[in-house]
Amino acid sequence: MSQTTVSESTISAIVAQVLSEITAAGSKPAAVNASSYDATSYFGRKYIGIYDNMEEALVAAKTSYKAIREMSVERREQIITEIRKLCYAEAEIMAKIGVEETGMGRVEHKLLKHQLVAQKTPGTEDLQTAAKTGDGGLTLVEMAPFGIIGSITPSTNPSETAICNTIGMLAGGNAVVFNPHPNAIKTTNYAIDLCNRASKAVGGPEIAISVKKPTLESADIMTHDPAVRMLVCTGGPGVVKAMLSSGKKAIGAGAGNPPVIVDDTADIAKAGKDIIDGCSFDNNLPCIAEKEVFAFESIAEELIYYMTQNGAYLASPEEVDKLVETVLVKQENEKTGETKLVINKKWVGRDAKKILHAIGTEVDDSIRCIVCETDKDHPFVQTELMMPILPVVRVCCIEQAIEYAVEAEHGNRHTAHMHSKNIDNLTAFAKAIETTIFVKNAPSYAGIGYGAEGHCTFTIAGPTGEGLTSARSFTRLRRCVTADSFRIV
Ligand code: NAD
Repeated sequence: MSQTTVSESTISAIVAQVLSEITAAGSKPAAVNASSYDATSYFGRKYIGIYDNMEEALVAAKTSYKAIREMSVERREQIITEIRKLCYAEAEIMAKIGVEETGMGRVEHKLLKHQLVAQKTPGTEDLQTAAKTGDGGLTLVEMAPFGIIGSITPSTNPSETAICNTIGMLAGGNAVVFNPHPNAIKTTNYAIDLCNRASKAVGGPEIAISVKKPTLESADIMTHDPAVRMLVCTGGPGVVKAMLSSGKKAIGAGAGNPPVIVDDTADIAKAGKDIIDGCSFDNNLPCIAEKEVFAFESIAEELIYYMTQNGAYLASPEEVDKLVETVLVKQENEKTGETKLVINKKWVGRDAKKILHAIGTEVDDSIRCIVCETDKDHPFVQTELMMPILPVVRVCCIEQAIEYAVEAEHGNRHTAHMHSKNIDNLTAFAKAIETTIFVKNAPSYAGIGYGAEGHCTFTIAGPTGEGLTSARSFTRLRRCVTADSFRIV
């Protein structure tokens, strides 16, 4: 009997094909490890829409926009439906590679974030036409595409932001070129490929474009290409400032440091649980997550008790000092020589258990957050930590709570939370803090539609005022006038 030998490369190709089909069908993902994927492929399946450099990416984006420009709204929606399906089916893969590549966050929460994106990111239904009729006839105002959008994405919600932005931008009739965060390039490019696979599955073009190796230089090329008509920047203060100084229409979704106030009318047991649920979600990576608590003196002890009943570890003053030394580092201002404490990026989005281990405190897996009592000037209160460490500051009254909370939010006008049943206190805080999102009596993620009403986004534009972005944020208004006719009454 003759024996047929199959080469290793043929086997790899077959395995890659089968895996991609299994994945597309929504079955369980294969065991992923760092060698299974890079910035351009996953298990040997080459990504669609990823280019060697920004110059090539921009050429592709132009082709993409040309194709999208020809599409009907129904066709855009067909592609978006397909993106939703794949995003849901492959949520676990993206959750796993996101945690593996960045070392940040929690798989079980990233899974939920992707499912939320699939379910609650608005599509073309978000676009609305306004009509004005009168003796002078009919005037229409329509939401039109900008064209090619340049999008900068963070390392904290990489694939979630890429898919959410692509859905909204395509719904608005745009093409998008990404310059993703270099530390999350593999995960972000997986998501961009997913959007393109979804489009191809229904016979569509490449709709989202990215590069193999994003740099500040590639961001600069993207920003200055005349074909890029709008910039959407999701990230920290440095990059948002850079994009807003570009001279182009830009949407800036910047940093936050969300405070929480708990007064003496709140359901304290619920507040304790809600705050820990929100603060520990994806290890505090979401920019909307609870970052510091101002609790009325009379209920502070009870609040901390309920926090510890829900997965929080109460750190002693000595442990707090050790935590400061571990998760913060001194940074010197080159001009003035002054030093200030900033986050040690090594600890962003890490598990509470690992952070405690680093200071010599051993806890079990039930611990998902570290709480500590500090004064209001403590660096844990004033710095956006993005890790599950939550300082609690005692306050005497609502006036002091609001004063401290507004100071800690630093005028970002991003997100704030409050647990209270006192309408006057709730109203006073909401008015004073002026944040884009204000969540009452719920975990922070209610603010982006998880377990609450409202759509989802991972690009929350406080500085430029679009708020929780959606398809309409990525459009420009155009007026069409028909004088003296088409009024039917
Ligand atoms: P980051 O600010 O470190 O980086 C964001 C991106 O900008 C990266 O791709 C980076 O390479 C690039 N970049 C940095 N400086 C640049 C410049 N001068 N020109 C061009 N590109 C530049 O972001 P991160 O650490 O991944 O994300 C965390 C920050 O983002 C936090 O402050 C968080 O609050 C914020 N964030 C805000 C939102 C929102 O919706 N408002 C969402 C997610 C994250």
